[in-house]
Amino acid sequence: MKLPKAVLKELVVAEGDDPRLAKRSTSRTEAEWPKAGKGRAAKEVLDEDLAAFKDELERAQLQLYASGTHALLLIFQAMDAAGKDGTIQHVMSGVNPQGCSVTSFKRPSDTELRHDFLWRCTQALPERGHIAIFNRSYYEDVLVVRVHPELLADSGIDKHDGLWRERYEDINAFERRLHRNGTRVVKFFLHVSKDEQRRRFLDRLDDPTKHWKFSSADLAERAHWDEYQTAYEKAIAATSTKHAPWYVIPADHKPTMRALVAGVIVDAIDRLGLDAPRPAASPEELAQAREQLLAEGS
Ligand code: AMP
Ligand code: MG
Repeated sequence: MKLPKAVLKELVVAEGDDPRLAKRSTSRTEAEWPKAGKGRAAKEVLDEDLAAFKDELERAQLQLYASGTHALLLIFQAMDAAGKDGTIQHVMSGVNPQGCSVTSFKRPSDTELRHDFLWRCTQALPERGHIAIFNRSYYEDVLVVRVHPELLADSGIDKHDGLWRERYEDINAFERRLHRNGTRVVKFFLHVSKDEQRRRFLDRLDDPTKHWKFSSADLAERAHWDEYQTAYEKAIAATSTKHAPWYVIPADHKPTMRALVAGVIVDAIDRLGLDAPRPAASPEELAQAREQLLAEGS
């Protein structure tokens, strides 16, 4: 089960293109997907697709793990309540935890601020054979920090002309280095609408079991919605490259978002063209080992 080429093409931001976020749907793809069959509701088809992608992902991860030649870095960025945590949890629920890590990047610590902005993320990069997920990333340094440039003072940096362009360059160079050394970088922007964010915040406030997810800072950031959209647009346009593409995923409908993310990850691993895991021993050695064990009796 693969995501149709037309869907992948629609989601990816081609190098040099503007993502034009305001023009993109936050709820569905233009390409007809998923295709509801006769008598099958879209929701049912979607659940089946997600389950099929998760099976594929399990298979693809095993290939990645067994081959040990490449690593995968998945970056998730989004406005608050767009569904980063839930998507990571659902999509990765089937993969072998031994080959996967998730790191969430919050406001940098004092130690982190004493280093360059890429430093803390390099500590969490995946080794060959592994998948690393970044829940937020060094992109925060051209997003939240761009919306709130006063944060630059924390790291003792003066805002100067060209600062954001320099950071995009540093990011592109960093991601090119990763690609050249066998790490595939795939970046997701979960594109949620302002209305849907409002609904999800209200839902968090209405449900005591979700109160822990709500922070009053979330409302303060919501007030900067347009500035964030602009910052995202600029960052995505400047850093979506052939070797480290951005995918803009409609995020208002959670099952759609999750299935699309899973489909893009499967595609990224498949494009590596890895062979199925090969046995570590020759057929003769396997036969001999089998005989030896059988000879021990029961
Ligand atoms: P959450 O993902 O909801 O736990 O929130 C983490 C918070 O940390 C968000 O408000 C981010 O914008 C913030 N954050 C992450 N990285 C940075 C950074 N480099 N500088 C400032 N704030 C950051
Ligand atoms: Mg939050």
